Amino acid sequence: MSFEKFGLAPRLLKGVKSMGYQKPTPVQQDAIPPALMGRDVVGCAQTGTGKTAAFVLPALQLLGHRRKVGVLVVTPTRELAQQIEEVARHCARFTGHKVMAVYGGVNYNPQAARLRRGIDLLVATPGRLLDLHRRGDVDLGSIEMLVLDEADRMLDMGFWPDVRRIIRVLPKKRQNLLFSATMPPQVMAVIGTELNQPCRVEIGRSAVPVEAIDQAVYPVDSRQKSELLAALLEKRGLDRVLVFTRTKRRADNVCRDLVCNGIGAVPIHSNRTQAQRRTALEGFKNGKYRVLVATDIVSRGIDVDNISHVINFDMPYRREDYVHRIGRTARAGSSGTAISFLAAEETAELRNIEAMIGFTLKCNDLEGFNYTQRLLSNPKRQAKKIRRLVYNGGALSGRRRRRRRTPVGTSV
Ligand code: AMP
Repeated sequence: MSFEKFGLAPRLLKGVKSMGYQKPTPVQQDAIPPALMGRDVVGCAQTGTGKTAAFVLPALQLLGHRRKVGVLVVTPTRELAQQIEEVARHCARFTGHKVMAVYGGVNYNPQAARLRRGIDLLVATPGRLLDLHRRGDVDLGSIEMLVLDEADRMLDMGFWPDVRRIIRVLPKKRQNLLFSATMPPQVMAVIGTELNQPCRVEIGRSAVPVEAIDQAVYPVDSRQKSELLAALLEKRGLDRVLVFTRTKRRADNVCRDLVCNGIGAVPIHSNRTQAQRRTALEGFKNGKYRVLVATDIVSRGIDVDNISHVINFDMPYRREDYVHRIGRTARAGSSGTAISFLAAEETAELRNIEAMIGFTLKCNDLEGFNYTQRLLSNPKRQAKKIRRLVYNGGALSGRRRRRRRTPVGTSV
């Protein structure tokens, strides 16, 4: 399968080639043809599958040059909006379409002024778009195609009422493309009422992690997590590592500890300004920082190639976030590694994640690391069912030697 087979305009194909894409990814193969035929499409696909180009290419192919917003892409975060804008700009490099992203956290007036000069494809976060609409700075009356990107995330982040408000002001006759990693009932409801016999495209089972990712759990006492992280980075010589924490404060603390250990690290979370986030991402991309420490809210906006490892410093509260987090590595077919630090108090989260992904995660150790007492699973039981956990003060190998004599559930 090649991009030429889609019958895309030569200028659009030139843009695709300039991005270095050789052949379409599965989601592109499945979603582009029906979208080009004008059909509504529901794509169940995670970030990392190439879904952005799957909606940007048909959008640009079908879009005129009227300098009125013809395609509207609604997405939850500024980072995602910027990334979609970047992909769309690249694809539109030779087509002459005007592309722009609007999002909160930056000055309103320059965005409004640029919109007034005329835009063909608009990417927007819900809040800023509604502001612009309320103040009469954007005309949504010419929309021919609506793309809802990461619909489940917009729901999680509380944007759903805004999304519904936006849908209400759009022309009834339009094409709809909806992408979501999971399909919660509220999203399904929109599909049922707003969409016209959509073509469903499902890449893998929804919310199943990308298979190429090697995943392991590292049991550790919560007080030793920082120490283990620094030791892991140093001993294994890891570069381009994305670390996730549960809270913004923990992200800042982890960064501080890494920097104290002489490891270049930078935080990215919603308390950081737009400029700080951009500098952090750029510094991480160009190798100034080995480690980027993030919270879940910003995780989907992180589109950096060649992230070798994702480390869950803390288990995510929500099991779906596990998938989104580890999806930052192994982008578009390359392989990656995901390591999750597991403290005793996080076993419920681990069970939840394993129940969702349908298999137990293997346990691993950092050789030579001086572990204090921690919670360990009984490796013998792993393959069969969700594990009961036992305390273990030493390394995994020590536990293995003793396991025949030690009943499950005891402290050793
Ligand atoms: P997305 O799922 O849209 O966030 O895309 C994930 C990554 O895959 C981005 O870095 C894209 O540039 C890249 N990508 C998208 N489509 C292709 C393709 N056909 N070939 C190679 N890389 C791609």
